[in-house]
Formats: sequence, C-alpha cells, structure tokens
Amino acid sequence: TDAIQTADALPENPDAVAPERDLMSKFDGLIAERQALIDTGVTDPFAIVMDQVKSPTEAVIKGKDTILLGTYNYMGMTFDPDVIQAGKDALDQFGSGTNGSRMLNGTFRDHIEVEEALREFYGTTGAIVFSTGYMANLGMISTLAGKGEYVILDADSHASIYDGCKQGYADIVRFRHNDVADLDKRLGRLPKEAGKLVVLEGVYSMLGDVAPLKEMVAVAKKHGAMVLSDEAHSMGFYGPNGRGVYEAQGCEDDVDFVVGTFSKSVGTVGGFCVSNHPKFEAIRLACRPYIFTASLPPSVVATAAMSIRKLRHAHNKRQHLWENARTLHGGLKAMGFRLGTENPDSAIIAVILEDQAQAVMMWQTLLEDGLYVNMARPPATPAGTYLLRCSLCAEHSSEQVERILKMFRSAGQSVGAIG
Ligand code: PMP
Repeated sequence: TDAIQTADALPENPDAVAPERDLMSKFDGLIAERQALIDTGVTDPFAIVMDQVKSPTEAVIKGKDTILLGTYNYMGMTFDPDVIQAGKDALDQFGSGTNGSRMLNGTFRDHIEVEEALREFYGTTGAIVFSTGYMANLGMISTLAGKGEYVILDADSHASIYDGCKQGYADIVRFRHNDVADLDKRLGRLPKEAGKLVVLEGVYSMLGDVAPLKEMVAVAKKHGAMVLSDEAHSMGFYGPNGRGVYEAQGCEDDVDFVVGTFSKSVGTVGGFCVSNHPKFEAIRLACRPYIFTASLPPSVVATAAMSIRKLRHAHNKRQHLWENARTLHGGLKAMGFRLGTENPDSAIIAVILEDQAQAVMMWQTLLEDGLYVNMARPPATPAGTYLLRCSLCAEHSSEQVERILKMFRSAGQSVGAIG
C-alpha cells in the first residue's frame, strides 16, 4: 500500500536509533561491571578456553597443564572407550545430525535405545528425551501445570526450573530453601481442589547441599500434590542403583517425575524425564520444548545410551568418587576454609570467600598454579555469596586430590582466606 515505503524510498543515511530506544543500552551496567573486573588485570573467569582436553580430569588452558575441578563430569564418562566407540559408530551409520523434530524425521534407532536405557536405569515404565536438561525442565513444568494450577518450588531452584514456571500458565509459589515447614505452610494455604506440582532438586548445585527429599515428598503427598525431582547432580552415584537422592532417601514410590541431564554424569549433552505415570507418553503430544526443536544427533544419543548402561554397574567409580569428596572436604575444612556444607554431602564442594575481589584473586591464583575451579557469584549463587565451586570426578586420582589440597592451601594463604 502507499503507506509502506519501498526500500528505494528509504533515506540513505537514516538517523541512528536514539540512545533511549537502543535496546542494547539495558546492558550498560553489565558491560561496565565486566570491564571493571578485567581492568583489575585478572583473567576473565567467564571466558576460559580449553585448548586441549586430555582426560576427564586434565586439560591444557593457556598453554598450561591444568587439573579440572570445575566440570560436571562426575563419573568421568567422557573418555570411556566404549562410549567414544558408540558415538563413532553412530556417526558412521547415521550421519552427523537428524535435521528435525522427534515428531517428524528426528527419531532414529538410538533415540529409542537411549529411552530404553533410561527405563532400565531408573526402573520406570516411561522415559522421554529432550535436547538439554534445561529444556526438560522448561518442557515438563510448563506442560504439567496449567492455568488454575500451582507450581511450588524451592527459592534456590535452578534457572531452568524458574524458566519452566515463566513459560507456563500456572501460579507460582516459592518456599524457603530446603525448609520443610515452610513448604507445608505454603501448600496448606492453596485451594484443596487445585492441581499442584512441587518441584525439588536432589542436590543444589551452588553449595552442593542435599534436599531433605523424604520429608518434603511426604509433605507434598499430604497436600495431594504431585512431585518432580531434578536429579541432575546426583545421577550415577546416589542410591543403590545410582538413580539419585530420591532413591538414596527411599522415596521412589512417591516421586512422580524425575528430570535429569546427559551433560553431567552421562558425559554428553541432552535431558530427560522418567516416570511411571500411565499417561506419561501424552507429554510428547503437548510439550512445546519437545516438539518444536530438532532432536539430538545420533552420535550423542548413542554415547548417552552406552554411558547410562555402564553407569548402572559403576560401583567402583561411585565408591572412589565418594572417597575423593570426603578427602577434599575434610582437607579444606581442616585448613580453615568456609565450606558450603558441614559434611561431604555431594560431589560439589563450595569454598565460600569474603567478596568478589577475594574470590577472583583466589580463582586466578589456582589457575596459574594449574587448577581449574568454577568461580560462582550472584545471581547464580544465593544473595551476596561469592564462591569457588569444586566438583569432583571419579577419575581424579588420590594423588591429584592431594595436589589439589596443596594448591588450595597456598592460594588460600596468599589471598588471606585462611591463616
Ligand atoms: N537442572 C540443574 C539442577 C542443573 O544444574 C542444570 C545445569 N547445570 C540443568 C538442570 C540443565 O541441564 P543441561 O546442562 O542439560 O541443560
């Protein structure tokens, strides 16, 4: 129509977007904060490049051999020869990608295989694979709880759980982190007849603390709620079958949905939900983050299937991982570091520091010595908490753990975190 200008009629040098309408100006604060950090002369903790990865516990960073203590490779499966071979075979047989959604052309033999491996691992009747753990939470939470229903979640929940709430139409209620009485109180205020989904995590990833799932699940059931537990950081090494904290605490029968990821103990990428609900398959028909995205590449699902099958029997690895967690936690505690948990409750050990400056200094000192850990800060961490997060691997040797402790002692003393 006349009202629409053709490209030829547009001015040659249009005025720049006015600063107040520049959509990028909302990031000015973040840009300034990051620049201020870099101006202090430290390495940017959020821009690390692995030049070479030699094993689950060693990489070359900035030309230096470095021990990895900041990956989620809990069970060290990324270099397992059978896992690698399964991926190579799938690449040869099925090509590099699926080019489409599970609903259309994106279901290959190994998508079915990995769902079967998950059903066996978890002992459930149903398993649905998503492209990431983030999407599993996004999809499950937004699809399960709809208008007029409620999602009740822990205040320290992972971002993907919060985003699942935002994507759906249910009302959201938060309770204080790991506080059973607060969960009970908040559930008690909701209308009895409304559908409710309580979302919990087995291990909380910033401090490495474990949820009192048994008590929380009992409270949820008392109020007629369904329960979803995110077991991302526990798969492979909690409970007799490595299913997670919910198995270790004996509440398998009362957890309706378990969400997990392939990006941690499984050692590749992808997400999933398992359940015994008789109507579980219907999720595939309604869940947008399942339907409207391409499925995982064949090599990824083939490596995941092999890894999950091996994890079922990885009793020695499990034992060694726990031994590593006890040694590192005990050693750091004895040196006087403030830790995220009183006891070695998980494979994550958080070393809490005074402030950002001290955390970054310590992080850099460790890196220069040849140790990589995660620097974590708000909003990922609880308010005002700056920490170095250590995540152990079953492939860390006892000798590596001793070296790690020595590096922590010397870095901690040099930044004044310990005496
Ligand atoms: N849930 C929790 C508790 C997580 O920590 C994470 C990732 N760190 C996810 C879900 C998302 O998993 P993924 O990396 O597979 O997207």
